[in-house]
Amino acid sequence: MILLNPKRRAPRYRDERSDALVQKTIDFFEQKGKARLRKDDIDRVWYADFLDFQKREKLFATFLTPAALGSGRTRWDTWRNCELNEVLGFYGLPYWYTWQVSILGLGPIWMSGNEALKRRTAQLLDGGGIFGFGLSEKEHGADIYSTDMELVPARGGGYLARGDKYYIGNGNEAALLSVFGKIAGSGEYAFFAVDPRRPAYQLVKNVVASQSYVSEFVLRDYPVGEEDVLLRGQAAWDAALNTVNVGKYNLGWASIGIATHALYEAMRHAASRRLYGMAVTDFPHVRRMLTDAYARLVAMKLFALRASDYFRSASREDRRYLLFNPTVKMKVTTEGEKVIDLLWDVIAAKGFEKDTYFEMATRDIRALPKLEGTVHVNIALIVKFMKNYFFAPGTFPDVPRRDDPADDAFLWDQGPASGLSRIRFQDPAPVFAAWDQPNVAVFREQLAIFKDMLARATPTEEQAKDVDFLLAVGELFTLVVYAQLVLEGARLQPGDADGDCVDQIFDVLVRDFSRHALDLHEKPASTPAQMAYALKMIRKPASGLARYERVWRNVLALRDAYEMSP
Ligand SMILES: Cc1cc2nc3c(=O)[nH]c(=O)nc-3n(C[C@H](O)[C@H](O)[C@H](O)COP(=O)(O)OP(=O)(O)OC[C@H]3O[C@@H](n4cnc5c(N)ncnc54)[C@H](O)[C@@H]3O)c2cc1C
Repeated sequence: MILLNPKRRAPRYRDERSDALVQKTIDFFEQKGKARLRKDDIDRVWYADFLDFQKREKLFATFLTPAALGSGRTRWDTWRNCELNEVLGFYGLPYWYTWQVSILGLGPIWMSGNEALKRRTAQLLDGGGIFGFGLSEKEHGADIYSTDMELVPARGGGYLARGDKYYIGNGNEAALLSVFGKIAGSGEYAFFAVDPRRPAYQLVKNVVASQSYVSEFVLRDYPVGEEDVLLRGQAAWDAALNTVNVGKYNLGWASIGIATHALYEAMRHAASRRLYGMAVTDFPHVRRMLTDAYARLVAMKLFALRASDYFRSASREDRRYLLFNPTVKMKVTTEGEKVIDLLWDVIAAKGFEKDTYFEMATRDIRALPKLEGTVHVNIALIVKFMKNYFFAPGTFPDVPRRDDPADDAFLWDQGPASGLSRIRFQDPAPVFAAWDQPNVAVFREQLAIFKDMLARATPTEEQAKDVDFLLAVGELFTLVVYAQLVLEGARLQPGDADGDCVDQIFDVLVRDFSRHALDLHEKPASTPAQMAYALKMIRKPASGLARYERVWRNVLALRDAYEMSP
């Protein structure tokens, strides 16, 4: 089955240790049990038990140390990290968050040329350390150009760091924090390592009410030697963006894990609850909502898995991941919200109960679209690729399923973060043409009209500066990219991503396309010609009762598939 079922997990890796570590992580949470998981969440208990477990098992050390810096048993393997991301999200966002911000904190270190600090970091990881990424500041949000953190040259050499950072995960217990700032005087960007145990590091508070510690901290003339500097100038700027390229990919997996656990709980409840002498799952509208939730979730996973193939195969010449990763971040995470909304409308009051996983999911699923650049920031990024995607395709060798145990060294050598509008993509037409499912055909028609609109009623320069208008176009473009990789992923996914499932997914995507087309039509800035195209894009999905019934049977079977240990 494509969805994670921790109680029926099949081995996935060629080395036993990787499977054993994922299984031990699952066992840790199942032994902890749902009651304790919820109590710790409600009481906002710092997850020291999980951190002890990961330290004992060298979990983060094994998964997050590049092979070149490890003891021979470590590698950075995105395929493997996908599953750990998913498992941690499945049991609770705080557990995922401490792993995620460790990844972000390690990014500038693994990208740095400071070999001594890299070796020290590998030792700290091996000893069970966690890490953090000090980019955000209270006053500046997404505007990282305006960072106020300063490195002031000190008399005897080195620098004194002055400034504060806000929203920085693990700021209470990190072994090291990678902090972003500017060199006073020159304004040159820099990344430097901060040890929170030193006296000039002042932890102010946890800014959120959560098990996670999302810190505000101040550096008060914190001494930074040359040996603490990770990167300077353009390399530091590129490292900030390239680290987020890695981190934003993980956000989608947290959403997938959360939505999967919520789906199991919701199915069990709805199928066993009887109203008016019948099961809640006998209502036709409930079936429709649950089938949509399932189709959306399978699509999220197909897309994220396929994006991993491109990420792992990337090079300085093939940078297609720079479109696919923000799509994971922006689209997969917002799809996660839709899944929870659909399920919540079905289980209603149950979703408020304090002993359910679901109650946490309703809160936590909202975080992922907002972290590491909002949805808007990511759509604004994605539209930069639209022209080349549709009108200037390149030629690339096929990217296979990348489930091999490689060490993804390219992630630390991504190169300049600029030049996005020069990136080429393969022609998506053959991917869409290879499926004869009726709803893929309807989607193809919508896509053709959209492309025609871009060619013949091309957004003007003025419209391109209007972010409100741009976002509407961006949603349609993102949907096309999403659909492409869902189809590619389905070809590579044996089992339940079959023709029926794909057709059901495209039933949803056709409706989404129509909705976004209507949105474009209604934008104040759209021209009469664009409005006419937008109306032509609105289509009804192809009905297919037999297919729908077959998919529904698979969805209903999830009622007994998984329940967390009490
Ligand atoms: C729980 C939590 C944990 C976090 N952990 C970390 C961490 O460990 N390290 C870290 O460095 N940061 C962290 N952050 C910060 C997070 O990455 C920022 O919140 C995020 O980047 C957005 O900034 P903001 O929320 O201040 O929004 P703002 O930047 O204030 O944005 C306001 C509005 O403007 C829009 N906007 C801004 N810029 C653009 C643009 N270019 N194009 C279109 N629209 C735009 C936004 O979409 C939004 O609607 C964390 C935040 C939270 C809530």
